[in-house]
Amino acid sequence: MPDAPFPAAAPPLPYARHWVDDDDVAAVCGVLRGDFLTSGPVIPRLEAALAERFGVGHVVACASGTAALHLAALAFGLGPGDSAVVPAMTFLATANAVRLTGAEVRFADVDPETGLMRPQDLASALAREDGPPAKALFPVHLNGQSCDMAELAAIARKHGLKAAEDGCHALGGWQGEADGGLAPVGACRSSDAACFSLPPAKAIAAGEGGAVATDDPELAERLARLRNHGMTRDPTRFEQSELACSEATKTANPWYYEMPEVGPNYRLSDIHAALALSQLSKLGRFLKRRRALADAYESALAPLAPLVRPIGRVAGGRHAWHLYAVHVDFAAAGIDRAALMARLAARGIGSQVHYIPVHRQPYYRRRYGEIALPGAEAYYAGCLSLPLFPKMADGDVARVAEALAEALGAKP
Ligand SMILES: *Cc1c(COP(=O)(O)O)cnc(C)c1O
Repeated sequence: MPDAPFPAAAPPLPYARHWVDDDDVAAVCGVLRGDFLTSGPVIPRLEAALAERFGVGHVVACASGTAALHLAALAFGLGPGDSAVVPAMTFLATANAVRLTGAEVRFADVDPETGLMRPQDLASALAREDGPPAKALFPVHLNGQSCDMAELAAIARKHGLKAAEDGCHALGGWQGEADGGLAPVGACRSSDAACFSLPPAKAIAAGEGGAVATDDPELAERLARLRNHGMTRDPTRFEQSELACSEATKTANPWYYEMPEVGPNYRLSDIHAALALSQLSKLGRFLKRRRALADAYESALAPLAPLVRPIGRVAGGRHAWHLYAVHVDFAAAGIDRAALMARLAARGIGSQVHYIPVHRQPYYRRRYGEIALPGAEAYYAGCLSLPLFPKMADGDVARVAEALAEALGAKP
């Protein structure tokens, strides 16, 4: 909001904002002064740090969350003649990652309270007789809450599906397991892979960046290969020995590389990785702050119920609080969402809508026609994301609640 209509005492609050300190800047400058700007030593350090945090065997860093999802879809072998299940309540990228392989998207409904794909939503999407057979699913941990991965995985196993979690909202979050325990999102205990995103509005910033976690070494190798044009320099994988090897030395030629399948350039630069690695050391602190702010919202917004209600909470996980979203009963409040957002903006409060159900996009509508997904529609009808980022001041939550009350004409 560059042009607030009146100069507020406090600066405008965006709905999300990164937090970059001098030590983050120094980490980036260190790379700029070094020998490698890309594919250097920071990438494996970032990958190892993420793998340790997730408790997973392998992490492949890449250019963005979208790239991470697309790499997972490619590594699953998705292509024309396949389909994959994607919940309608997500960012475009989850569905597009599937579609960009040539596979079709099988949109699933979500819980109207939490926006998460439930086991019954997955089952109904699989039971629909339109489109080619399903080969994979991409559950989305919306707002930072994990889907019930154990239950979704049970269905996936029954149908022989691969599963890649879209964890772009859930870095630092935890999910319930079948035995009642907890695992970090990214541990991949109930999936083949989990994808993350590192732009400024997410949990930690790399500028742009992403990562895929997996416990499957073959899948990790394929992801790493696909990230770099589909090429390999690993002599044990070479197929063409006459081109690969020198007659004289009987070893692989030093310049030789081979491309067994086609892939894009989705590499992450060391510049971005250095920022991400530096930020990763602060993730715990950021999450603690997000949790405290979310708790403050819970009480500050309580007087506005039932016009404003927090998004439904799932049992058995630990929220990563990427977004603080609420349901607003716009009909009862007698105001539409655009007018409410404008009133909030006039009071210096940024807000956003996450998301327009993806099956309603013209591209997908033309491709698949009208699909009835009432849970996603209901979630979309009322959702609004309020400012939430670690650098918010303690008083900011009260400021948002007050502005919301005024804007709704419901002074608490
Ligand atoms: C941000 C996001 C993505 C895409 O990540 P980028 O890094 O922006 O490409 C995918 N899925 C969800 C749910 C996201 O929020």
